[in-house]
Amino acid sequence: MDLSGKTVLVTGAGKGIGRAIAKAAAARGASVVAVTRTAGDLESLEAEIGCRSIVVDLSDAAATRKAARDALPVDYLVNNAGTTALDAFVDVTEETFDFLYAVNVRAPMVLAQEYARERIARGLPGAIVNVSSVASFIGFADHAAYCASKGALDAMTRVMANELGRQGIRVNAVNPTVTLTPMAVKAWSDPAKSAGMLSRIPLGHFAAPEEIADVVLYLLSDGASMVNGVAMPVDGGFMTD
Ligand code: NDP
Repeated sequence: MDLSGKTVLVTGAGKGIGRAIAKAAAARGASVVAVTRTAGDLESLEAEIGCRSIVVDLSDAAATRKAARDALPVDYLVNNAGTTALDAFVDVTEETFDFLYAVNVRAPMVLAQEYARERIARGLPGAIVNVSSVASFIGFADHAAYCASKGALDAMTRVMANELGRQGIRVNAVNPTVTLTPMAVKAWSDPAKSAGMLSRIPLGHFAAPEEIADVVLYLLSDGASMVNGVAMPVDGGFMTD
């Protein structure tokens, strides 16, 4: 997974899994373009890995398209940024539903459109990884909008793989189980809930962000040159239970 000379755009690079991806890519020689919402996170990341930074709210489609154009050209795209909300199904508002779709599905589409157009115009191959979730496969209580958005992201990944694969651009999703980040703390702070989830993971622990980052980098790399259109659980065997 040597990424020397390559440039990787990572969204949501300020915290959690995205930050781990950015740091892992830099450690393997890549230049990183870090895209996220909180400028302070990018300042500290810049100090750590010397990345280029773009601050944008990915729920704003026009601003996202402009940010993507400003970021290009890059060799690889990682659509990692995501958000969640916990509501009983009957209480999910239209606003929450639309907001989660805007960040978790529409922004990856916009970024990938700009990335793919630029690669195709230059006749270059490429690779995209969309960070989805095991929530795309499972009906987690209180996660209706989130599960729906990640299911949509997996479905869009397959279409992208079908269309863009013909242009030499591979597109895959990774589907982590609970990964110990700020977002996970928000969603899994109830010990009764986390114990139940842990008991269903044969490897017996939640994921570390670095364990997700390594799989993302593998899918970007030439080592995955025949992998296109998968939604790859990174879940310690959770999906086997
Ligand atoms: P974190 O909350 O730790 O980090 C998310 C990052 O995305 C932050 O840098 C955040 O910036 C950024 N982001 C969120 N919304 C926006 C927005 N509207 N515009 C720009 N940037 C935004 O989350 P995780 O690292 O846990 O999650 C990363 C991805 O992994 C998500 O797609 C998530 O769905 C997925 N995932 C996470 C799991 C987990 O257990 N952690 C499990 C399965 C999947 P800011 O803080 O400034 O808002």
